[in-house]
Amino acid sequence: MILKIAVLSGDGIGPEVTKQSIKVLKSLGKKFNHKIELESGLVGAVAIDKYNDPYPDETHQVCLNSDAILFGAIGDPKYDNDPKAKVRPEQGLLKMRKKLGLYANLRPTKVFESLLEMSPIKEERISGTDILFVRELTGGIYFGERGRKDNDNFAFDTCEYNRDEIIRIAKIGFEYAQKRSSKLCCVDKANVLEVSRFWRETVSDLHNKNFSSQELSHMLADNAAMQLVIDPNQFDVILASNLFGDILSDIAATLTGSIGMLPSASLNEKNVGMYEPCHGSAPDIAGKYLANPLAMILSLSMAFRYSLNLDSLADELDKAVRCLISNGARTKDIANESTFLKTSEVAKELIEILK
Ligand code: NAD
Repeated sequence: MILKIAVLSGDGIGPEVTKQSIKVLKSLGKKFNHKIELESGLVGAVAIDKYNDPYPDETHQVCLNSDAILFGAIGDPKYDNDPKAKVRPEQGLLKMRKKLGLYANLRPTKVFESLLEMSPIKEERISGTDILFVRELTGGIYFGERGRKDNDNFAFDTCEYNRDEIIRIAKIGFEYAQKRSSKLCCVDKANVLEVSRFWRETVSDLHNKNFSSQELSHMLADNAAMQLVIDPNQFDVILASNLFGDILSDIAATLTGSIGMLPSASLNEKNVGMYEPCHGSAPDIAGKYLANPLAMILSLSMAFRYSLNLDSLADELDKAVRCLISNGARTKDIANESTFLKTSEVAKELIEILK
């Protein structure tokens, strides 16, 4: 099979972790006789440097020509420290999500039992945690009307959703819940926000109509943040709007020990997906060989599963990562001792296991 993969490495540690996932991809392609066709595109700060656009048309074309997109990370301190910059790296990500229609963000948060000691919360609370976040990605406050007025003395962002946007993401949530434990928790702020009351009503209607055999619960976002820390095992699938999903999935990511371990998939209606680690460009460790490449490598596994119909490769890769961790291979973020592996050494060990 020919696998056409778009490679958007981005900024900071993005290129470092993407490089390792490509090595793993090539190794698996060789082992299972798949021809890998890679095409690169610029995104983020590096794209602004060249095109003054964080997601230029050239890169969009590369994405359209691919079966799956591997995305590293974007972001650069020169923009983080300049809130007035008109063109910003993160605009590239939002533009890309919108142009490719990537409305469904899946973030599995699974604890590796051999890494329990790295979690900031007690082992007995976190052991067994396996949550799938289903986050709406192309609507809500990140895409609503925004601006400044009154001579720059007033700023606003608007949270907007229409019924169809909520139904299509809720469907994804229920469908994945069906494949797991049939338990879906929808998170909102229905006590204060009209948009949240609309979410609650729309998700409940869909549940009654098409998914009544599943268990649906609702939880306020602030309580959900607490419950994720107190008793993460109560959750299976969490459905959330763009903003709440962003914040809550990062809280959950921290529970597992390191954000460097968590992959994500962003899918459109044709399941052409963008696969990226949950972390950002980590400028504090960029160029120091400290980045954990496993979030990116596990994102590759999600690409096999959700866009390329190669579940067996995904299973093989997931198994190899579990084996690698059990063998004690650690980058600094998950190492207890002063000795740890470099980014590329982790990928090298993983490839040995895969062979
Ligand atoms: P971050 O995720 O980049 O880093 C947070 C912390 O986690 C840092 O201490 C970092 O060293 C550590 N970390 C992150 N990934 C790691 C990995 N693979 N291995 C080991 N340690 C890792 O978040 P931030 O510091 O808030 O943001 C930095 C930049 O990234 C900003 O410009 C931000 O806008 C951008 N960002 C981009 C994305 C994205 O591309 N999707 C997501 C979040 C943040």
